[in-house]
Amino acid sequence: MLILAKQSVPMLSVQPKGKQKGCAGCNRKIKDRYLLKALDKYWHEDCLKCACCDCRLGEVGSTLYTKANLILCRRDYLRLFGTTGNCAACSKLIPAFEMVMRARDNVYHLDCFACQLCNQRFCVGDKFFLKNNMILCQMDYEEGQLNGSFETQVQ
Ligand SMILES: [Zn+2]
Ligand SMILES: [Zn+2]
Ligand SMILES: [Zn+2]
Ligand SMILES: [Zn+2]
Repeated sequence: MLILAKQSVPMLSVQPKGKQKGCAGCNRKIKDRYLLKALDKYWHEDCLKCACCDCRLGEVGSTLYTKANLILCRRDYLRLFGTTGNCAACSKLIPAFEMVMRARDNVYHLDCFACQLCNQRFCVGDKFFLKNNMILCQMDYEEGQLNGSFETQVQ
């Protein structure tokens, strides 16, 4: 996802040479063999932690995410700020924490998951149909079949 890639920060494990660097987490000098460089600052391996779950972000090859001065692991970032995708009905982004309805490859806001012709909502167990990427209730689907206003190809 493009948005996420922009906000992710690659980390480097570097061997400090020369002057000892101060840790941006605890403000103490870093005397370890390795330190982490992230967000243009230096960190102890133990000090670079996710603000949500406290997991260490210093694992090699891991990526951290920042938003509003928070440093987050990928999982928490996605949970808080990520997106599930675009709603197939209103085409707005759906945040990752929101409940969604899924139909085939499409995701929908709960509010958007209704027959796009008559606005009927679906309950558990109700039948719905996808036609040309439109959600249809059984009635509208069958009506469409009869008067041939829809393509018959099921996608
Ligand atoms: Zn530290
Ligand atoms: Zn986390
Ligand atoms: Zn929607
Ligand atoms: Zn309908």
